[in-house]
Amino acid sequence: MTNDLLSLSTNEFIAGIEAIAPRFDSATYPQQNLPADDWTLLTRAGVLLPTLPKEYGGRDSHIEMCRVVETLSEWNLPLGMYVTVITAVALRPIVLWAGEEAKQEVLPLYAGGDPMICGFASTEPGCGSAMSGMTTTFEEVEGGYRIRGRKHWQAFSLSAHWWLVSAKNDEHGRREYGYFIVKRSEGFRTLQPYEPLGLKVIDYGLNEIDAVVPRHRRIPADGRTLRPMVEMLMASRAMMAAMGCGFLRRISREAHAYADRRRIGPGPQSAIRFVRYRLAAIDASYTVCAALNHHLQTALDMKDAMIGAFPAVQAIKTVATERMLSAAHHYQQLVGGEGYRCGSPTNISAQAFLDARVYTIFDGTNDLLSQQLTEYCLARTDGRALSRFLAEWPLTAPAVAAHRLDLGFLDQDLRQEHMVLAGRAIAYVFAIGQVMRWAAETGADAGRTRAAIEFLKADIAGVATEFGLLATGLPGLGDDAAAPPAGVPFSRSIPAATEA
Ligand SMILES: Cc1cc2nc3c(=O)[nH]c(=O)nc-3n(C[C@H](O)[C@H](O)[C@H](O)COP(=O)(O)OP(=O)(O)OC[C@H]3O[C@@H](n4cnc5c(N)ncnc54)[C@H](O)[C@@H]3O)c2cc1C
Repeated sequence: MTNDLLSLSTNEFIAGIEAIAPRFDSATYPQQNLPADDWTLLTRAGVLLPTLPKEYGGRDSHIEMCRVVETLSEWNLPLGMYVTVITAVALRPIVLWAGEEAKQEVLPLYAGGDPMICGFASTEPGCGSAMSGMTTTFEEVEGGYRIRGRKHWQAFSLSAHWWLVSAKNDEHGRREYGYFIVKRSEGFRTLQPYEPLGLKVIDYGLNEIDAVVPRHRRIPADGRTLRPMVEMLMASRAMMAAMGCGFLRRISREAHAYADRRRIGPGPQSAIRFVRYRLAAIDASYTVCAALNHHLQTALDMKDAMIGAFPAVQAIKTVATERMLSAAHHYQQLVGGEGYRCGSPTNISAQAFLDARVYTIFDGTNDLLSQQLTEYCLARTDGRALSRFLAEWPLTAPAVAAHRLDLGFLDQDLRQEHMVLAGRAIAYVFAIGQVMRWAAETGADAGRTRAAIEFLKADIAGVATEFGLLATGLPGLGDDAAAPPAGVPFSRSIPAATEA
């Protein structure tokens, strides 16, 4: 059935996805786990095919992976996440790094239009951000590996047929991490379903693993650090730009239409100047995500290792998800009381906000990713002040020069709280550069471009103000945390200065 899809051009293929996506319109689609029949409709439309290599029945296309997710997210953001988890998080590492025998066993199952699901199991009740604290173990046994432990918050906890599971082994006096492809029936059990606030199409829960998997289902990866896990998460973090772009195109459209329809006093709500300011903020967020999505589509490649794009991906994830959340918040505020109503016939803002809320938390909490972005830069300053480095670094230099950005406030001993804030500022500078590039390469409207850049500059000024706030000596922060040694990254899982 999906064979017919293999000969289509990209535009014809995406047109098929566009034709089916309106069925999942979040204004009318039930807030419930996606039924298998509906997943079948989507797999038969080919949503998994761009991820799969041609020799396994796929279309093997980075750009199509992005466009499928962008299209679905415009109609139904949680569905965009649904497809992202299966394709960019779970199947991609199998495609890129699993051995031939494992690929032959698993990948064809996802090419035939069946409602197959694959999940990624990393987070545990005791650890999410600092995964070195994982307690799930693996050990060599006859015929393969035994994996035991508990994981929670996995997308598709109850419904995935296959899993990619991370585990550790401390047996030989040194820590080793491993990544395994596990069939649900080999010993993956859901102990307790979780009810999420949003993303209702996806099922979540607390899971127990006690499985023996054959040797060939271990993914060959350097076990000494968690760097391979960071690499595995690169694609989904980058994909936030595609989700943000689709989602915010919809939110912008909905918010404008609502404000034009709604009468407040003698005229439409959209005649109120502060309402127009909120609409401008929503539109600026959409523009920023469109530019980040342009970078994803034209400068990144999920079909290959992405660790070289580490800083760009950290910036994309944090900025895109912040923009999704802030625009959803503006939209909900504009809608007033009707925005607090589940299933309101006039707007989708309540659910949009609940769906967007978790984006700054999962897939690496934004606070941690911002800190890591600063660490990455500090490890490469070569004795220069951070602001000097940013003025010369290709990812930020064009924006610093074009807008004469004053980043001097970053040039001080950065404690942990500064590192998080500095990472945000660096990500905003990166985003300004991407808006500039997107505008130049697509001929975007100058007013739209200027507004997005002004909002990002205001965000940088906000970080500078927070640095000033910290300098006043806030109660509760204490003086115990020592400043980091200059130029030494804290985390062994981010790329070393010699790599990228
Ligand atoms: C809806 C949803 C879907 C998910 N899907 C999956 C999935 O499919 N597979 C999977 O394995 N996991 C999944 N997760 C787990 C998710 O990735 C983790 O929740 C996330 O990484 C954060 O880990 P944690 O919850 O343990 O929070 P913690 O690590 O306890 O962090 C909580 C908070 O502490 C603060 N914090 C932590 N570190 C820092 C820092 N360095 N600087 C400043 N502040 C910091 C931040 O405010 C952070 O938000 C999902 C979670 C949710 C809610």
